[in-house]
Amino acid sequence: MSAHIIDGKEFSARVRGTVADQVKVLREKHGITPGLAVVLVGEDPASQVYVRNKNRSTVEAGMKSEEIKLPDTATEEEVLAVVNRLNEDESIHGILVQLPLPSQIDETAVIDAIAPEKDVDGFHVINTGRQAVGLPAMVPCTPRGCIMMLKDHLGDLSGLNAVVVGRSNIVGKPMASLLLAESCTVTIAHSRTKNIEDVCRGADILVAAVGRPEMIKGEWIKAGATVIDVGINRIAKDDGKTRLVGDVEFDSAKDVAGAITPVPGGVGPMTIACLLANTITATCRMNDIEEATLLG
Ligand code: NDP
Repeated sequence: MSAHIIDGKEFSARVRGTVADQVKVLREKHGITPGLAVVLVGEDPASQVYVRNKNRSTVEAGMKSEEIKLPDTATEEEVLAVVNRLNEDESIHGILVQLPLPSQIDETAVIDAIAPEKDVDGFHVINTGRQAVGLPAMVPCTPRGCIMMLKDHLGDLSGLNAVVVGRSNIVGKPMASLLLAESCTVTIAHSRTKNIEDVCRGADILVAAVGRPEMIKGEWIKAGATVIDVGINRIAKDDGKTRLVGDVEFDSAKDVAGAITPVPGGVGPMTIACLLANTITATCRMNDIEEATLLG
């Protein structure tokens, strides 16, 4: 048996198409153009690429995009001043501060300064808390993308055994919380988990968010399980070049799993799509518009 490959590129294009349709309705029916601001501090090459892609996708979806660049010598006060200005700006519905920040800046202080209703990354502790108790919250983009792919593929998730490997604040914990909200029976595994292979073998849904190349092998996976590989790891090839691999050993896993996301081309493309989707959610909540009614 060979697993169904969940195509993140195709699914993310669908989500971005829906977002573009929602933007059209917000502009034409409500007179509102959703606005997303991205703050980049410093010259980190990877961050520059991410920010450029985010801006391009924002504009393609018909939204207003604002990019604020600060030098890597910027002080915490300067970054906070930008965040405060964006908090007050009524044309901006989502604020994202690209991480990591230079060492002189306290990331938590900056995230805490973002107005929770504009926190489209979903990292503010108010959003973390609201999500944990089941109140409407901004949900971190990567876990939101994983849940969308799971529901698209499996439909109702209730009663399924879900194992999340990794307990970071940006992926593992919110992922587990979202799966619980879908009425899965959830186990979180981490570096201290005993018999992790056996834990994984109990999963109908296995989410890997570890950051260890190809750690999860095919024999750890229950036949027919749905595997979501969040990991992005760059490894050296024999010819001296590099390639991206996930946290799951794809070649052995695909012979056992029922469905699996590839790396690249799985979870990765969903993250920007969900950033745009979160900006729609924020725009609707700020303007008392029922998001579900946008597209009828
Ligand atoms: P972190 O390093 O913050 O967390 C890794 C987690 O994995 C920790 O909870 C750690 O456990 C656990 N872990 C580490 N080693 C083991 C092990 N041997 N066995 C079991 N658990 C282990 O990583 P992130 O959550 O930020 O990211 C995880 C991966 O996802 C990375 O590859 C990252 O690049 C990728 N990623 C991809 C995104 C995308 O858009 N597709 C977005 C964000 C991340 P402990 O807590 O005990 O130390």
